[in-house]
Amino acid sequence: MQKDEVLRLFLDPDLVPPEKRVLLSNIADLAASLNMPCYAVGGFVRDLLLGKPVNDLDIVVEGDAIKLGNKLVEIYGGRLIPHFPFRTAIWQLPSTFDLQPSTLDLITARKETYDKPGALPTVAPATIEDDLRRRDFTINAMALRLDGEGLGEILDPLKGQTDLERRVIRALHPKSLLDDPTRIFRAIRYEGRYSFQMDSSTLEQINEETLKVLHSLSGERLRHEFDLILDEERFAVMMLRVAKLGILDAIHPKMPEFNQDYADFLEMDAQLDIQADRRTMGYMLWFMELAEADVILLANRLDFTNELTLAVWAAAQLKRGLVHLTDMRPSEWTYALEKLPLLSIYAVYLVSRENSLLSYISIWRHVKPFTTGNDLKARGLPPGPRFGEILLRLRAAWLDGEIANGSQEETLLDKLLAGQPWQGA
Ligand code: ATP
Repeated sequence: MQKDEVLRLFLDPDLVPPEKRVLLSNIADLAASLNMPCYAVGGFVRDLLLGKPVNDLDIVVEGDAIKLGNKLVEIYGGRLIPHFPFRTAIWQLPSTFDLQPSTLDLITARKETYDKPGALPTVAPATIEDDLRRRDFTINAMALRLDGEGLGEILDPLKGQTDLERRVIRALHPKSLLDDPTRIFRAIRYEGRYSFQMDSSTLEQINEETLKVLHSLSGERLRHEFDLILDEERFAVMMLRVAKLGILDAIHPKMPEFNQDYADFLEMDAQLDIQADRRTMGYMLWFMELAEADVILLANRLDFTNELTLAVWAAAQLKRGLVHLTDMRPSEWTYALEKLPLLSIYAVYLVSRENSLLSYISIWRHVKPFTTGNDLKARGLPPGPRFGEILLRLRAAWLDGEIANGSQEETLLDKLLAGQPWQGA
């Protein structure tokens, strides 16, 4: 693409918000004063050339990114989180900037070599071109010069622009996916997001040998990749592709396919006052049909937090147990559901449309008797297990429609205190 066309895109406020553009110019000016050629790279350039709004700001300098970062903090404020082995830094922007995302990656141009597939790379400082050659796909291996006269020049040694036009995801060398199999997930995300396709030589890299290395990746790294897929609008297409390429089996033979019938539920607006975290929701829907023991197995494999494990396990358990609950009274439903995370109940409601689950979420869980522990004390009942029993019975009577107002509750309470038999739950 010609420089003036690139500049036109760069100056388009719908693609690069003016505050981001000004920030980039200021960084580039400072880098120039330190004799460091300065570039935007990766997703920024890819999305800009596609005419899509840019998101992350990744800056590469031929020079020391930590030194640049320290100067930026000195002038503009914020905080620098340096990573000395790679001479990279994350700049947490000062809150006055009010930019999203609120961090910016500052990278020292570097070369990478992999001593062993799947391991983390060994690095050395290098030129911008070397830095582009260590990246994943041609469409992510372009740089936009930001400083001085060079502003608007695109560096594209690996022909990323041609692949953008052809809508192709192409790895940079034949061992790329073997070196780092998380790139398979990245390729699938770009395929799904932009309706691109891996070229045949890249696709061929997803072979037995690569899947073996994928199998050895840590749960944390794998879960991070699934988290990113779940964040995507077209995640269902991506999950299907993950399954078709044999990735689920490679991770663990018990990994289920994502049930495509459940895909719409991830898109549903949060209703009923429930804060539905998209990722938690995604994992619950994905693992809902599994036996509880397999949920635990896979939660360990993917290094779920305890909270996520509990939410997914509860959803699977409830889905399985629904048949036993259908004829129960509202008080029994409530008693059974109260121990489970609300989000798990909501997820099972979405896929089952079981009305009692909706009643629980919207009504039953809020039902409480007027009587409190203090009232029982005032009536002379000595504190003890009877307290809980009586309050539970009063609540059950409300839930099951046996009482419907305060005076009926009083009558029932009198009977319970007098030790009379009661036919409620
Ligand atoms: P997205 O829109 O998905 O966030 P991105 O390009 O901004 O895309 P990042 O994960 O932020 O993706 O990475 C920034 C850049 O770093 C990528 O464009 C790519 O050039 C490089 N990169 C990231 N992960 C890898 C990897 N595993 N191997 C090689 N290069 C990578």
